Amino acid sequence: MDRYELGAALDAIAAPTKPLHWVGGADDGRDWCRDCARAVVRHLRRHDRKNRDDYVLDGGWRREQDSMPTCSGCGAHLSADLTRYGAEEEAAYYLENGLSNTLEGRAVDALYLSEILANLPDGEDRDTLTAMAMTLIPPDGKTEAGR
Ligand SMILES: [Zn+2]
Repeated sequence: MDRYELGAALDAIAAPTKPLHWVGGADDGRDWCRDCARAVVRHLRRHDRKNRDDYVLDGGWRREQDSMPTCSGCGAHLSADLTRYGAEEEAAYYLENGLSNTLEGRAVDALYLSEILANLPDGEDRDTLTAMAMTLIPPDGKTEAGR
């Protein structure tokens, strides 16, 4: 299994993500899913009528992040590309803590490791995390949930 096949196999079992959004005009640096971002925009427009036109739904596309984003409202995982710094930070977490023990946690591990391995430079850490990621892949390449 090469790195592209491993990436695809991880993505197939990874926790679902929603597109990353943010609220233009709020400038608070928070990440949201679309539904929560829309609710925040509505709220801000209603409570800050003077600046209501400044608050807009923004995002909806992947962008580089220093960590894997989750929605500030509902906690959903959001899709993003890790920067090299972000990949190294998330890699350090896995090298120290290993994989989750729960099925749900392992789906999140697959999501994170897929992004880490897509952006981590070659080296000992990458080899260790690749071996770790391989243990997440079921032997037949499929899960009960399937895709
Ligand atoms: Zn949300």
